[in-house]
Amino acid sequence: MIRIDSLHYRYRPETPPALDGISIDIARGSIHGLLGPNGAGKTTLISLLAGLLTPQKGRIVIDGESLDVWRAVRPNAIALVPQDYAFYPMLTVAENLDFFAGVQGVPQQERQRRCAEALAFSRLETVAKQRAEELSGGLRRRLNLAIGLTGEPEILLLDEPTVGVDPSSRRFLLEIIRQFAAAGRTVLYTSHYMEEVEAICSDASIIDHGKVLLAGPIAEVKQGRTLEQVFVELTGYSLRD
Ligand code: ATP
Repeated sequence: MIRIDSLHYRYRPETPPALDGISIDIARGSIHGLLGPNGAGKTTLISLLAGLLTPQKGRIVIDGESLDVWRAVRPNAIALVPQDYAFYPMLTVAENLDFFAGVQGVPQQERQRRCAEALAFSRLETVAKQRAEELSGGLRRRLNLAIGLTGEPEILLLDEPTVGVDPSSRRFLLEIIRQFAAAGRTVLYTSHYMEEVEAICSDASIIDHGKVLLAGPIAEVKQGRTLEQVFVELTGYSLRD
């Protein structure tokens, strides 16, 4: 279980908190959708889980241990796949994977196997020798994801992983994410695409202004409505504006 317990985070003393007492339980092996309008606090929460930011109040507990303790013995167990492309455009796909595996501290003797597995899992073998800058939007998204997989994470934090990709590439990415979780690993998935969250997530949280408005298994969150209807009703934001 990943227990997010009463987290607070404020970037500056004079601004409202980005997270204002967020509590969410995420079951290991689940795909948990994190939904919220722009500025709701999704990226801040993911950054805290990834250890890029430190909670100012509250705590994150994984399998009964505090995040810091848990991560200290498993430095690559949590991977963040950011919203922005996080690779070198001039390097090939294979070179990027090798480089970022090195950055994550994957030992030299394991690097080749890990990179080959990440390539295969993300079905990027045919473009392994292409420069990243030559890839389509969908393939770039897959490379972003593949880089996160080289550390063999148990928990994958995905920040809007399908932005800017066409529907067929999107289906492909969703299938890869599903397969990742099917092996018992955990995914926290932020997206503005409600139909994606309905399609692949077992659970969801809707947050706004740094607070949880609703959380639970998808069927309970929806209560016979579409996720979009629930989202609009709770947040007052229309996705079609
Ligand atoms: P989006 O869907 O647009 O990515 P989000 O739900 O991920 O939004 P966050 O990026 O976590 O929201 O932002 C939450 C709040 O914190 C917003 O009010 C935002 O302006 C503020 N914020 C985020 N990053 C910073 C920063 N580096 N410095 C100051 N304020 C920030």
